Amino acid sequence: MDQSYMQMFVEETSFSNRMVLGAVLPMSVWEPLPHFLQSWLRNFTAGTIIYFVTSSLWCFYIYYYKFNVYVHKDAIPSRKAICMQIYVSMKGMPWFSALPTISEYLVENGWSRCFPRISDVGWVSYTRNVGLYWLLVEFGVYWVHRMCHDIRPLYKYLHATHHVYNKQNTVSPFAGMALHPLDGILHSLPHVVVLYIVPTHFTTHIALMFLDALWTINIHDNVNGKLWPLMGAGYHIIHHTTYRHNYGRYTIWMDRIFGTLCDPKKEDEGKRS
Ligand SMILES: [Zn+2]
Repeated sequence: MDQSYMQMFVEETSFSNRMVLGAVLPMSVWEPLPHFLQSWLRNFTAGTIIYFVTSSLWCFYIYYYKFNVYVHKDAIPSRKAICMQIYVSMKGMPWFSALPTISEYLVENGWSRCFPRISDVGWVSYTRNVGLYWLLVEFGVYWVHRMCHDIRPLYKYLHATHHVYNKQNTVSPFAGMALHPLDGILHSLPHVVVLYIVPTHFTTHIALMFLDALWTINIHDNVNGKLWPLMGAGYHIIHHTTYRHNYGRYTIWMDRIFGTLCDPKKEDEGKRS
């Protein structure tokens, strides 16, 4: 890749740094930092804002505004449980922010299959590659999660931190990022690995990582009834309470293929027939 082509990635990440850091911090704090540290600080700042704003709004809506509608009042987590989830999440956030920073560094230096403009490949190729990207990430996250349960030391030393939230009234949107730092990095790693397999539009990659964070917050909301045909937070709550089913993050597709799906609706239908 020639230098001017790679410079387009640097311009894009520099623009994001200015937009995010310029909005929340005095210039004298972040501008003297090297580009890599600016990007890390931007990812940390954006991640923290997304975590607090989205989780707070979602909690306000389902626990207070719609009190006893989506979540039974006995299943609303205590303030203490939520504070603990925030504490664990914020301990991990500096490390979670390091992964996209390293992946951006690799992209900026031409060590990936990323491209800067959709017009570089055309819309047909772009759409096909986004589908392939999503499919491989779905597959990767499923197996990372399943290995974190099947390999005992991985569960004991990493993933168990996230599974203390094993009852409906101990899970909340704030629990979505309450993971051991290495566990969080492992679960996001497929987003980076896929950049070496699939030609990927860089901005779309950033957007999909952003959506991943939102979805992670969403699937820990313990709202009853969110068990749609292919996806829904309800499946992940079943995972938290059973430990052995529904390893998929986005859909139940991989669980269906690999035989780890627990679908209460199907079981109810079976009992009735
Ligand atoms: Zn798990």
